[in-house]
Amino acid sequence: MDRKRAVGWVLCAVLFIVAILCIGVSCAVGEGPKKYAVRYRPSDASEGIIMGKTDQFILPGEDADAVEAVAEKGYIFIGWSDGIETAIRRDKSIQGDMTVYAEFEREKYTVKYTAGEGGKIEGETEQEVAYQKDGEPVTAVAEFGYMFVKWSDGNESAERQDTWITEPLEVEAEFARLEKTYQYNYNYATGGDEEKEVKIHIDHMDAAEFSVPEKEHSVFGGWYADKERTIAVTDAKGNRVIGQELFRMPTDTLYAKWTAEEEVNYKILLVFVTEIDAHGPRGLNGHTIDLEYTLTEEEQKLCKMIPQKLEEKLNEIFYGLINFEIDAYYTKEPVTNDMITGSTGDPINSPIYITAGEIPEVRPLINKYRAVMTAFNLNDYDGKYHSTILAGLGSRKFAEIYLDTFLKGGDIEVMWDASHEKYEERWNRLLETYLHEFCHTIEHEFDYADYHGVLSTCNEVDKTPLELTEEYLLGLAEYEGETVGVPYDYWIGNVDEILVRYNTIMILNGENVFWGELQRENAQDTSDQIVQNIPYGGTADTVTAIAYPGYRFVKWSDGVTTATRRDENITSFFQVWAIFEPIE
Ligand SMILES: [Zn+2]
Repeated sequence: MDRKRAVGWVLCAVLFIVAILCIGVSCAVGEGPKKYAVRYRPSDASEGIIMGKTDQFILPGEDADAVEAVAEKGYIFIGWSDGIETAIRRDKSIQGDMTVYAEFEREKYTVKYTAGEGGKIEGETEQEVAYQKDGEPVTAVAEFGYMFVKWSDGNESAERQDTWITEPLEVEAEFARLEKTYQYNYNYATGGDEEKEVKIHIDHMDAAEFSVPEKEHSVFGGWYADKERTIAVTDAKGNRVIGQELFRMPTDTLYAKWTAEEEVNYKILLVFVTEIDAHGPRGLNGHTIDLEYTLTEEEQKLCKMIPQKLEEKLNEIFYGLINFEIDAYYTKEPVTNDMITGSTGDPINSPIYITAGEIPEVRPLINKYRAVMTAFNLNDYDGKYHSTILAGLGSRKFAEIYLDTFLKGGDIEVMWDASHEKYEERWNRLLETYLHEFCHTIEHEFDYADYHGVLSTCNEVDKTPLELTEEYLLGLAEYEGETVGVPYDYWIGNVDEILVRYNTIMILNGENVFWGELQRENAQDTSDQIVQNIPYGGTADTVTAIAYPGYRFVKWSDGVTTATRRDENITSFFQVWAIFEPIE
């Protein structure tokens, strides 16, 4: 082959290969006319969608297909990101790639509050609230003479806040002429107390009839709008003495005013044992005792509150009948084993007790009171000396209260913190115990009903022990078909007989010692104890304390210094001790 032809062949082959390559490349690229990408999107897919083709490829100068921005429920379309405001758009003569966003916002609704006759709306009366958002609270306030009844949509609360708004709302507050219902607080009336409430209409005030209750041994003095009985609503005959102010009172209770027919004062002494220092034989049976306790500052603070609380409670129960006066005595000397009784060491059946009459420094006081109740803390939280459920003990005239029963588990702080939710409950428990034991101190003086029997009915009659105790004290408790309890006669001293006792016994180191005897008038023999019954307010027989040889009479426990005494005007269980001492 000649050289020229060979070069030609090679050139042809190269050209052919290049041509083939060029065609191949051209086919792979798919080269065609240029198109632009046109995209439509919602700015937030939860607020709306695009109807139509969201992704379009358009030849230069051609038009895109129409699309529409559609809002989801609760939203409205507000425009496209390029400024176009119509929801439907058709972009013409496309000249480049483009992406536009449809924009939405929450729909807003008008929430409107109006007031009908007799009142107004406090708060924003017309509110623009976005879809599913909350409105501002408003209150329907009645003008004087009117009262709020309800809203036109049935809502009965004057205060309202509409939340999660999904549609427009318009409601009207409805008011009506004022009408007020007062509950009667009869304070243990014994008659005329059938009506529980009285309804008064502002336009017909004279139509209201007020009940006129009765209470035995007490005089009705009218209805009052306050517990202190300063705002009179009616007179004693039930005639209204107040005008439309009756509708402005912050209370809905009317309180009966009562005045005692006969003024009766009843005095109680509360003794608080400040310190116990008792070691050795207890009482008269040789059991030993090992007790040492001083009331803490907190406990003393509590004890200082008790007399007033109890006095208030009793005067509330006996309002308009009897006036209770409560005195308090805090022991100055430690209580020692000789002053402590209780016998066998059985904390349930024979618990330890400390009776006021056994405490020498208290003895001079006891005959001035009709009941004496002693409180102490034995620090006996494991129930060695009294069962932990035992809250108190009562006997004729005297009672004991075990403070440790109430102070278990840090309750003490609750009892002086009036803002504590259990404050009232704790006090009621303690006052209930005081009243319970008080019942026991007096029940010997009259033909008493079974006080514990009355208490046992509490489930049956659905009353608390405290309520039943109050009824019992007032002589208004129900038991076995009868009205029972402390008779009024007891309070005024109309009792059968009063027990009077003169003693010479003295306990020393757990033993009774007698250093003298007693001579009663007109009696032949002397004795170590003189007991007699006298009428209420009566006079006891004359008694003389006579010392044994080698001893001399010092004085009586109540301070009387003459060996011979004649006691008059005795009104409750009376007892004194003659005190002797050896002559040096
Ligand atoms: Zn009892």
